[in-house]
Amino acid sequence: MLEEILRRRKKSVKVAVLTGAGISAESGIPTFRGEDGLWKRYRPEELATPEAFARDPALVWEWYDWRRQIIARSRPNPAHITLAEMEDFLPNFTLITQNVDGLHQAAGSRKVLELHGNIWRVRCVREGIVTENREVPLKEIPPRCKCGALLRPDVVWFGEPLPQDVLEKAFKAAEECEIMLVIGTSAVVQPAASIPLAALRRGAVVMEINPHETPLSPYVTETMRGKAGETLPSLWERWKSVIGS
Ligand code: NAD
Repeated sequence: MLEEILRRRKKSVKVAVLTGAGISAESGIPTFRGEDGLWKRYRPEELATPEAFARDPALVWEWYDWRRQIIARSRPNPAHITLAEMEDFLPNFTLITQNVDGLHQAAGSRKVLELHGNIWRVRCVREGIVTENREVPLKEIPPRCKCGALLRPDVVWFGEPLPQDVLEKAFKAAEECEIMLVIGTSAVVQPAASIPLAALRRGAVVMEINPHETPLSPYVTETMRGKAGETLPSLWERWKSVIGS
């Protein structure tokens, strides 16, 4: 089915990609639900919340500072690089990510729909002003805005709404695409987990790339059980041989 679409639609095929923490695992960034996904004795669900930040902003920022240090040392892997190449090659290509690490942009992806924000931005809790902040490690924990108020990471925490405009664009891409790749996500965090379902409802071919079974697995058209950095580049080579350059 996939080959048939590629043969027929060639370069004009509409492709959407949804990535999650698993795509960055081979870059050395721990996932939330993987084996090394824990931080000290806290679970992400207990730290990445507005309540945790209100209770103990220094603890939450220590966790983010630790994550920022890991991300600062990491580099995009072949999966990130392949997606940047796909964007260059395919005119109808949308990349949607749940990740906050910025590795897609580091790999060269220019248009990235970031559903959950970006760890390299901070937001003043009083004025709402968003700025880039790449200080690693942070000199002051918790960091403060010039106005004296606390800064928070410009990411979406559990229980917070996603940016509406980004979410709308993501669902539009899912509803219009002919092929969707779902890479490295456990497909349990809503509303991102509904994006592949929207593509399936519209009759798209949905391929899951993940070494493990997920709640989405029974519904997808095809699964590739393997690491993103290994399976995606070989899949893309096969696509190119069908589409032609
Ligand atoms: P998750 O941690 O819940 O699940 C990770 C998934 O990736 C699992 O299904 C796992 O089997 C799979 N995986 C592990 N190694 C892989 C590999 N090499 N190739 C392909 N897949 C692999 O992640 P989630 O579904 O993205 O949800 C967690 C939330 O936390 C999201 O918002 C996520 O973006 C965020 N988060 C982001 C980062 C990051 O920015 N790098 C890291 C951790 C968590």
